[in-house]
Amino acid sequence: MNALPLIEAKRDGKTFSEEQIDSMVAAFTRRTIPDYQMAALLMAILFRGLDVTETRALTVALRDSGQKLAFPDDPRPLVDKHSTGGVGDKVSLVLAPLLACLGFRVPMISGRGLGITGGTLDKLESISRYSTALPVPRIIKQVQEIGCVICGQSEDMVPADKALYALRDVTGTVPSIPLITASILSKKLAESLNCLLLDVKFGAAAFMQTEAQARELARSMVRLANECGVKTLALLTDMNVPLGRAAGNLLEVREAVECLEGRGPVDLEQLVIESAAHLLMLAGKAQCIESARSLSIEALRSRKPLAKWEQMLAAQGVNVDSYHKQMTHQFAPAIVEVRADRDGCLGDCDARIIGEVVRDLGGGRMQKDSPINPLVGVDQIVKVGECVTRGSALCRVHAATTSDADVAAKRVRSAFTVGDSAPVRVDLMSDVIT
Ligand code: URA
Repeated sequence: MNALPLIEAKRDGKTFSEEQIDSMVAAFTRRTIPDYQMAALLMAILFRGLDVTETRALTVALRDSGQKLAFPDDPRPLVDKHSTGGVGDKVSLVLAPLLACLGFRVPMISGRGLGITGGTLDKLESISRYSTALPVPRIIKQVQEIGCVICGQSEDMVPADKALYALRDVTGTVPSIPLITASILSKKLAESLNCLLLDVKFGAAAFMQTEAQARELARSMVRLANECGVKTLALLTDMNVPLGRAAGNLLEVREAVECLEGRGPVDLEQLVIESAAHLLMLAGKAQCIESARSLSIEALRSRKPLAKWEQMLAAQGVNVDSYHKQMTHQFAPAIVEVRADRDGCLGDCDARIIGEVVRDLGGGRMQKDSPINPLVGVDQIVKVGECVTRGSALCRVHAATTSDADVAAKRVRSAFTVGDSAPVRVDLMSDVIT
């Protein structure tokens, strides 16, 4: 295929036909368009954009580039949640087993962290022997039998997006709303879902820095997913402060388990319950949002999702007795407290700084395949509005060495602002996009 006319057309602001997009994706998947031409095309798209019809054609072509999940008929709706990523976001770990207990099937195909945002697969792989690489027939079997799976995208699912995303990552062409829409939705549509909830985050530690950008992305994805037959809505949520009190892979798993035990942080539980409630509404399993919330809270309190979580771990290779021991005993070698230097009330905790420190401690990665240290991170984070006294702990840093811990503690201290009075409360959820 000669890609030059396509590059020139988009450079000059022309619109692609569906056939042009199909053949471009097919040729790129066969690797008959060289990366340098695809990169030029992506840059032209970044500047000129894609309209709604072009974005739909790209999404569908990416989705159809590989194998899709095909589930047997079953009264339980197929649902999933996608978050654009944040610091301390461990919602998926609690939500998947909760949804399975609410009568859904949850084929949750997740990703790894890059930069400061953690990835669900990295968190789960901090549990000894948890396997995230499952072949398609095993994903389907587990979803049918247990109700939920959280695993990675298999090699033959949406391969065109995998290749395209890798190229965008190194050519400065990630921040394009139509390209992000097509990339995220192609993967979700390949799961053959009935309903999808999107958690689109904005703020200091989010992909989308402003609420306006997050809203634009949310509108684009909600519209397209609904047009493609998946009932979808988006929550716009604040990512200026970390979610919960822990950031770092195994520390976040511990906090997710606390949430399943009914003693998780309030903001984490709120986002889990809101997500479940909106999916119940989308699937027509509740009359109103209040009763959907009550159903979700009741299910979480029943501790059935905790049992479901352990069932999922066992199905994905974990020895549950060893996991219990790991949860109680495995910690990073150096743990230091970061202390307040005055009495007051916590006015801010900058999620970006916390995310950068966790990444630099070894808990995140700068490059796609760098190894990560599952034990490092920050926990016991004081929440905005809580009171502290001089010398009391603001958080703890978990590090591989004492010198790493000391360096990180100094940086983490700068994330916290302690003031004289409680700040005006900022809502975690700012809007629902339908
Ligand atoms: N995550 C994705 O999967 N794709 C994007 O383009 C951006 C974030």
